[in-house]
Amino acid sequence: MKKTKKILSFILALVLFFAVTTIEDILSDGADGEDVEVHFIDVGQGDAILVKKGQESMVIDAGKNSNEKLIVNYIKRQNINKIKYVIGTHPHEDHIGGLDSVIDNFDIENVIMPNITTNTRTFESVLDSIVKKGLTITKAQSGKEYDLDGAKITILAPNSEEYSGLNDYSVVVKLTHGKTSFVFTGDAEKTSEKEMVEVYGSKLKADVLKLGHHGSTTSTTKDFFRLVDPDIAVITVGKDNGYGHPHKKIIDMLKKNDTALYRTDRHGTIIIKSDGNNLGVSTSESNN
Ligand SMILES: [Zn+2]
Repeated sequence: MKKTKKILSFILALVLFFAVTTIEDILSDGADGEDVEVHFIDVGQGDAILVKKGQESMVIDAGKNSNEKLIVNYIKRQNINKIKYVIGTHPHEDHIGGLDSVIDNFDIENVIMPNITTNTRTFESVLDSIVKKGLTITKAQSGKEYDLDGAKITILAPNSEEYSGLNDYSVVVKLTHGKTSFVFTGDAEKTSEKEMVEVYGSKLKADVLKLGHHGSTTSTTKDFFRLVDPDIAVITVGKDNGYGHPHKKIIDMLKKNDTALYRTDRHGTIIIKSDGNNLGVSTSESNN
């Protein structure tokens, strides 16, 4: 009788040990059963990215002024009414044009932007919406980390106070979920990339890279690309855009590295899901 009891408690201890180990394994992966979903919304020439994790969400840029309805409806269709982080990478119209509408239409917790202003109507309407909601702008600070329902957001740029061009002020964000990660670069160019290479080095490594400045040669320098070394590249670009984006040199570099390429002008809206270990990509037809 005593012996049976001993065996039973041994089995119980064993079961408990494995149960605890499994839970710990899951936690250490960050794979907490909830997927991160990253939506590169097709807005033609411009950026609009929605990130979902559990009940929390983040919006990085919101396309042009003419994309406002599309963006707001897209986010609403995802059953989102509250956005934890709204990031306006830099004050160009193809990035912050729809941001005022996003701020007007949803409950917003944080607005993160770089420390630069412009006197355009577009920028002023974003400021108006921020003020109307009683919000304030959190200045993007390199190295600062934020939590998105267990996923980690790290600001990688800007790393200087002043740049000669607006693009280099772009807020660059790394999103980490378990063993998977994404880097979103806005329109950051060579100067900012060089700083990130110096400041972050191998920490830039990511599975997915949203290429800077719509695949133009002003961005995605060899050094930066080598360190990020992505399996998947995303280019947000309009069909037959007048800028010649993306550049053939950039496409060739991706091919040489065996990086899979998704672009909004060909694949439409691109959705990448991560369970913390693996990534899955789905696309819809382009509507531009
Ligand atoms: Zn742009």
